[in-house]
Amino acid sequence: MIPKQSQYDLVIVGGGLAGLAAAVSAGEKHLTTLVLEKGRTIGGDGNYVEGAMGVDSYLQKQTGIHIDRTKLLQSELDYSHYEASAPHLKKLIDQSGATIDWLHDLGVKFSKVGGQGKSWPTIHSFAGGGHAAVTVLFEKAQALGIEFAMSTGAERVLMENGQVAGLVVMNEATGQTRDLKTNNVILATGGYVDNPELIQKRTPFFKRLLSVSDGKSTGDGMQLAWQAGAAHYQMGAIQYGGGAIYDRQQPPFVHMASQLAAAATQEAILWVNERGERFVNEDVNDNMCHAGGAILTQARTFSILDQAAIDHLTHVGLYKEVGNSPVSPDKFDQLQTELEHDTASGAKYLTKGATVEELAEKLNLVQLPETIAHYNQLVASGADADFGKAAPYLTGLSQGPFYAVELGVGMACALGGLRVDEANAVLNSHGYPVPGLYAAGNDAAGMLVGDTYAVTLPGSTAGYAAFSGRNAVQQIK
Ligand SMILES: Cc1cc2nc3c(=O)[nH]c(=O)nc-3n(C[C@H](O)[C@H](O)[C@H](O)COP(=O)(O)OP(=O)(O)OC[C@H]3O[C@@H](n4cnc5c(N)ncnc54)[C@H](O)[C@@H]3O)c2cc1C
Repeated sequence: MIPKQSQYDLVIVGGGLAGLAAAVSAGEKHLTTLVLEKGRTIGGDGNYVEGAMGVDSYLQKQTGIHIDRTKLLQSELDYSHYEASAPHLKKLIDQSGATIDWLHDLGVKFSKVGGQGKSWPTIHSFAGGGHAAVTVLFEKAQALGIEFAMSTGAERVLMENGQVAGLVVMNEATGQTRDLKTNNVILATGGYVDNPELIQKRTPFFKRLLSVSDGKSTGDGMQLAWQAGAAHYQMGAIQYGGGAIYDRQQPPFVHMASQLAAAATQEAILWVNERGERFVNEDVNDNMCHAGGAILTQARTFSILDQAAIDHLTHVGLYKEVGNSPVSPDKFDQLQTELEHDTASGAKYLTKGATVEELAEKLNLVQLPETIAHYNQLVASGADADFGKAAPYLTGLSQGPFYAVELGVGMACALGGLRVDEANAVLNSHGYPVPGLYAAGNDAAGMLVGDTYAVTLPGSTAGYAAFSGRNAVQQIK
């Protein structure tokens, strides 16, 4: 779609959660504004978001949740090893409740607020999911007169005398480019989780990482900003989604609602490495980023199920409550069917053995028989003297057939690459703003984290997207 004008007060690059929050704010300020969205649909990964972080929101007040902001800030700084920016994080925490209230007043509906695992109770779940929230924002922005150019990407920021002067934009269908004039650009392109080169720089475990994003978060914002003189700032954290079925033939979303995936990754059953050795307390999956890290320390990881576990999960119930997953919360009534189907179809991630020895031989898991014998002794003793897994999740393996499910690690977003100030202005390597250049959402969220995503503050990337999109617009006249 071709932009209607050649000059705007503001151009927002990216029509995801942060870009849409910025668009509505720009509409409220009566700025002539264009949103460029390189995809054919609006919302980016915002469409898949479960909920957004907030502190002191209307909903928390209604439900009697009070969070001590000073303690929250301190614990998040500790969690990030002080690699998060304290002033930036403090501003997010202080304004996150008001941001939730603003979204609510716009018509975004929230179904509940609470925690995830051992976290702060900050995640406000969107009624109808992220798609419902981005739809409200999109419609509101249009009603306020904001222009959207779909299938149109930003290619380059034009600078004049060290100040943003415009953008080169490209029609993704025709390849046609065009120059636009503007003195203000907000980059909100969703980070770099879909850019294998940039991800590879961040982690040596690249091959077993599976992006669950929509494929459009290719790091465009940071590259546009770097070309315009922005500093390269810590390629912060990857939001690991814990273990995921390592399927080399189909994309990860195929397994999103799979009970086999939930059993293998969420139930804290035995995990072994490429030699068949146990290497971690499997209930580490209380923290999806820690679980991802642990899995990636091994060359390969397999989750081992026996028939007794399958029967228990199918007919009796779960060993461990499944957190953020679309599968049944009570039982895995489709587990046996899924196993039979995947075995029959020759899925490479699934291996079946009538005995432990047969399974070990098929996968060359040399230590597996010994590992299982030792693990069963731990189960009988009632305590995991090796790695300290909680007693309720110690379940023995004795009844064949046995299955090994190979695990990789899902990743939802990658944060970092740019440094911004408290107004979300992008900074150069001297620590000063590149005049007219702002970043929001995942493009700027490296300011909030250290080496890992803050699972302890659930909803923080979505909460930050809404807060930072709005925050960037406040400075623009
Ligand atoms: C499956 C899944 C579930 C998630 N759940 C949660 C959750 O519950 N809570 C949470 O806090 N976070 C969650 N996240 C993280 C999520 O990425 C962020 O919360 C949120 O979407 C970030 O907003 P954003 O605007 O930065 O990026 P996005 O919402 O992804 O938007 C970026 C947009 O920019 C566009 N774009 C990219 N490059 C260009 C370009 N050159 N020109 C024009 N447009 C461009 C993209 O097409 C995209 O539409 C989840 C992510 C995934 C993948």
